[in-house]
Amino acid sequence: IFVNGGAMIEAIAKILKKYWGYDGFLPMQARAMTCTAGGRDSIVVLPTGGGKSLCYQAPALALSGMAVVVSPLIALMKDQVDALVDCGIPAARIDSTQSPPEQRAVINQIKDRQIKMIYLSPERLGSHGFLDFLKQHDLSFIAIDEAHCISMWGHDFRPEYRQLGELKSAIEGIPIHAFTATATQEVQADIARQLNLKEPEIIVGSFDRPNLIYKVQRRRDILNQVRSVLDRHPGESGIIYCIRRRDVEEMCSNLNEHGYKVAPYHAGMENEHRKKNQDAFINEQVGIIAATIAFGMGIDKSNIRYVIHAGMPKSLEHYQQESGRAGRDGLEAECCLFYSGGDYGTWKSILKDTPPEVIEITMAKLNAMYDFCTGVTCRHKAILTYFGQEYLKDNCAACDVCLGDLDTVKDALIIAQKILSCILRLHERFGGDYTAAVLTGSCDQRILEYGHNQLSTYALLSDYPKRIVRDWIEQLAAQGFILKTGDYNTLQVTQNGRQVLNGSQTPHLLQPSTKKTKVSKAHLDSWEGVDRELFERLRALRSSIATKKGMPAYIVFGDSSIRDMARRRPGNRESFLMVHGVGEKKCDQYGELFLNAIRDYDKINSSDDE
Ligand code: ADP
Repeated sequence: IFVNGGAMIEAIAKILKKYWGYDGFLPMQARAMTCTAGGRDSIVVLPTGGGKSLCYQAPALALSGMAVVVSPLIALMKDQVDALVDCGIPAARIDSTQSPPEQRAVINQIKDRQIKMIYLSPERLGSHGFLDFLKQHDLSFIAIDEAHCISMWGHDFRPEYRQLGELKSAIEGIPIHAFTATATQEVQADIARQLNLKEPEIIVGSFDRPNLIYKVQRRRDILNQVRSVLDRHPGESGIIYCIRRRDVEEMCSNLNEHGYKVAPYHAGMENEHRKKNQDAFINEQVGIIAATIAFGMGIDKSNIRYVIHAGMPKSLEHYQQESGRAGRDGLEAECCLFYSGGDYGTWKSILKDTPPEVIEITMAKLNAMYDFCTGVTCRHKAILTYFGQEYLKDNCAACDVCLGDLDTVKDALIIAQKILSCILRLHERFGGDYTAAVLTGSCDQRILEYGHNQLSTYALLSDYPKRIVRDWIEQLAAQGFILKTGDYNTLQVTQNGRQVLNGSQTPHLLQPSTKKTKVSKAHLDSWEGVDRELFERLRALRSSIATKKGMPAYIVFGDSSIRDMARRRPGNRESFLMVHGVGEKKCDQYGELFLNAIRDYDKINSSDDE
């Protein structure tokens, strides 16, 4: 079916422009699409926002016949199909929320060869009757979205995915393409095995998300810390993740009292109430959702501009997945993590009942997460290193460390020596809080009772706030100079720590910067030349169109399209078609409305000038 790779990719590029209004490919997309169109089985691993869906959607249009797409959640399928139809693409779904006549109508369309992509749940595809029906038709390939759901080693195993293992033999010769954002090679190999793929090509992209700006801070006054993030994003969508249900409730009521509009989401709520809040978030009636990790799977919303963690997640896998929901559209988005040593303790006690065969790995993951929080290297680099990939840039210009939110402490050696010798004077029998209190000269009752105000190290760092000294202790632990042991995280000086004491090793310490932090380059680039006021007007227009059509705003146009309109200010259909993300059908449907809004805006502004 596929002879000339060059001609095929050119054809696909034209399809991308015509239907989606995109001028090129994201990293690895061209390779993945060539493979999908070429008929060899494949596994494509790209991060959230990496553009996986287009890897099968565009080839499906280029090939003859109909492609079958398997997706785990009905909400996700509905969103995807709505978005495709809005681009003028003949896609459809069959799922249990549709009435029998609706389902029959789709079946008839398939029979009439009117459908290029059919979205199905794994249960539906696994049923024999339906497979027999499909087999009578010309199928181009089967794409399996969220393919890690087939693996017990993944974080989201779904038993119903197991039935998909039979597809390869049930429909002879059908190419199968699996898509996932899960990084581990173990899971990748398991996907190939479970699906019975034939010598699949495995395409793995970089897991880095350069448009995400990571910021990590110790939790002090969480409400104000959260509010300061929210205030940077008025009117934009974001998620606040909390560890426990009661934290969610508390966060919601506190913020709502302060005039923010926040809706809760956690597993303890009634299904209906939960769904209502999720829909309100997706449809932008509510800008902020406070949630436990129960929230997020199946949220395809592309314009989430920030994700806040009000507590530390239990692993970097979780952190990457949750923070990764921000900025799927490739525009800059902020990921702020507020942690405390207490979170570590909370998780430790929650996880202590983990089955013995996985307790060690679970605790190792928790430790790695905490080391990430207290670490002082570039956050992008730290995440990538954790997932086994190399990060080549020296400065990401998109995290607290690289943006200079934190200053390097000049006399780090002397400060570290003071901290370490205080730990020794306390006979390595106390934790971080207590040690920081002694070093900063606290008059805490316990300190006086123990007579620790008599130590030579008492108040040695009284020039600094306790929270900064507390941070330094964590930073020294993350660099291996201090070891935390026992149930109370008692501090001990390691062998390396002793080398600091004798001056043969120097640690790296950071403290919050007093200078104003730099704005990330991603932020500046994506707003370059954009008329903000016009952007806001066009955003409001998008909302009103979405409400009328009963679909999420980001399906009408992504944030990047709206920004590009407010940058180029197109005056006619031709220039409107040049806007990022405007394909032919979108231009026909919405062009007039947006062109008029831009014209009105220009008119008002030019009369202002007179
Ligand atoms: P994933 O499924 O990997 O998380 P999506 O398929 O949802 O990613 O794509 C993320 C975003 O990137 C979407 O808004 C999508 O329209 C956009 N996108 C995908 N491919 C391209 C491209 N070639 N050029 C520009 N934007 C793209």
